Amino acid sequence: MTSAEQLLTTRAPKLRKALLSWYQKHQRDLPWRTAASPYRTVVSELMLQQTQVATVLPYFNRWVQRWPNFSALAQADADEVLAAWAGLGYYRRARLLHALAKEVSLLKVLPSTAQAWLQFTGVGPYTAAAIASISFKDPVAVVDGNVVRVLSRLAGLKTSFVSGAHAVKRVTPLANVLVDPREPGNYNQAIMELGSQVCRKAAPACTACPLKTFCASKGTQAIGIPKILRAKGRREIVHRVLALRDGKVLLRRHPKYARRLAGIAELPLAESLKFKPSLPAYAVRRRTVVQTTYEEHIHVPASQLKVVLSDGLIWVSLAELPFMAISGPHLRWLGEFVRRGKLV
Ligand code: SF4
Repeated sequence: MTSAEQLLTTRAPKLRKALLSWYQKHQRDLPWRTAASPYRTVVSELMLQQTQVATVLPYFNRWVQRWPNFSALAQADADEVLAAWAGLGYYRRARLLHALAKEVSLLKVLPSTAQAWLQFTGVGPYTAAAIASISFKDPVAVVDGNVVRVLSRLAGLKTSFVSGAHAVKRVTPLANVLVDPREPGNYNQAIMELGSQVCRKAAPACTACPLKTFCASKGTQAIGIPKILRAKGRREIVHRVLALRDGKVLLRRHPKYARRLAGIAELPLAESLKFKPSLPAYAVRRRTVVQTTYEEHIHVPASQLKVVLSDGLIWVSLAELPFMAISGPHLRWLGEFVRRGKLV
């Protein structure tokens, strides 16, 4: 630990007090906080990974209304679960949540430590620490991008990190010393809230910050901290087909063994239908998945395609679209095409 980090650890009791009293006054009323339970914490933590609170809120409310506990979710059909997640992206989280509900609903007593939650398939250190600290007061720190930013700035870390994971690893020992042993759940939520609402990436509101007297890098000097080097992104051009017949749209559902998108439907790739695209496309959309930016060219064939319904190809009526597990961006584009009158 650097001398600035050591200084923070000696001032930990005062820092926790300042952070928790700010949190008491400024925390947002969120449904997983106002009516907290281990199940609601698990659902919210998984939904919130890589996704903004505003996007998660309607999904969370619908989800807990439909499946209010682990047992109810364990009995749900896998396709229903994916369909309810459609639009949140990163479907691996929905499959993980469903599998976790099946495992957890068999237990008489829920595990209470992060170490025990880590034993479940697919539960990583972040999720395990969030569940155990918020629901069971296990004094372990949750370290996400917000926490990395706040702690790096507090400690004035000038190091360049090769990745987000590297930064998490670097600040975790400090985070575990600072976490409040009596109120670890509130402390963890408070520091994440501070990172998202006050110690923002490009515009830290240092004058309003409850930790300004502890901070080694206030104001403009904080903006470049932490320095996380990004790997150079790739670009890929993809051609897809928007085929329509009798008010139905052609989609391809990925097989169950597909690694990332198992069970999720998308507009089919042109090459999979042996369709030769001619430019310009009907629409071009861009999206980024991890380090790759996909430029998706969507083509409407001039004449009816000969389609053999195999390899996951399905015709889906417009009325069914909102209830199916469809890739979020594809569902959004289809909605847009409907509004433009293309699909009617
Ligand atoms: S004083 Fe500024 S840089 Fe330091 S923790 Fe607070 S908001 Fe972040």
